[in-house]
Amino acid sequence: MTQLSTPRSAQAGSEGETPSADPAPKGPGENGGLTPTVRVTRVPEGLWLRCPSCAAMIYRKQMEANQHVCPECDHHFRIGARERIRLLADDKSFEPMFGNLTTTDPLKFVDLKSYKDRLAAEQARTGQKEAVIAGRAFVKGRAVMLCCLDLTFMMGSMGSVVGEVVTRSIEHATEEDVPLVIVSCSGGARMQESGLSLMQMAKTSAALARLDDAGGLFISVLTDPTTGGVTASFAMLGDIILAEPKALIGFAGPRVIQQTIRQELPEGFQRSEFLLESGLIDRVVHRHELRNEIARLVDYAGK
Ligand SMILES: [Zn+2]
Repeated sequence: MTQLSTPRSAQAGSEGETPSADPAPKGPGENGGLTPTVRVTRVPEGLWLRCPSCAAMIYRKQMEANQHVCPECDHHFRIGARERIRLLADDKSFEPMFGNLTTTDPLKFVDLKSYKDRLAAEQARTGQKEAVIAGRAFVKGRAVMLCCLDLTFMMGSMGSVVGEVVTRSIEHATEEDVPLVIVSCSGGARMQESGLSLMQMAKTSAALARLDDAGGLFISVLTDPTTGGVTASFAMLGDIILAEPKALIGFAGPRVIQQTIRQELPEGFQRSEFLLESGLIDRVVHRHELRNEIARLVDYAGK
């Protein structure tokens, strides 16, 4: 079932945010899988940009200073892990961990290009080894284990390295008895790692069960988009599940579901507010309030 959501993420991941920076030459059919929404929601270069939600022309610097939220309509732009950490953690408090892991590509996977080349291109473009950054941090003076998935690297897809970093973060939080905060944004399991990628779902979930046995606290923060195998594992296993406004959260995409069940989907289907109404998440939190909310929950849980 996860296959339904992963091919798009893999293709989108190869595209990234600045396609011109991709050194690999593109075949004529390579962009064929990209849907228009991917193009619309990508943040273009330049001083001004058009908000994909309200269509207002907004000054990029003003939007960035507003925590990447549209000053006109509160649209939450997608942000990478480094920016997320900068917004959540206290100044200079973040200490990265587990950053030396890389996949060995045991399947020697090749799609439009080899997985090895795809990874190398993503690493060169982003300056990161993988689609996750984790480490110790303080949030308003509270010690936490902070783990952020990164949408800018292969669409935040979960391969064995992402799964391992998430698992080690959970284990570190268990051993050190600090609250765990995972910020999810992902296209799901990583197609190029096939079954190895799917195993990360069981591994992360098992680690969370041990954290729970030890009486740990896990705050899961869902951001746009959280889909596929990430939703189907650790992202939905939080003691408390927060989501940013209007984030797409689901397993398979709405189009796939609509084609399968042949019924009109309700308005706002798979968006944070709909999930809150359906009881799947606990709270929709504006990006400006996320730091306060996490600190408040840590205090409330007595951690
Ligand atoms: Zn707007």
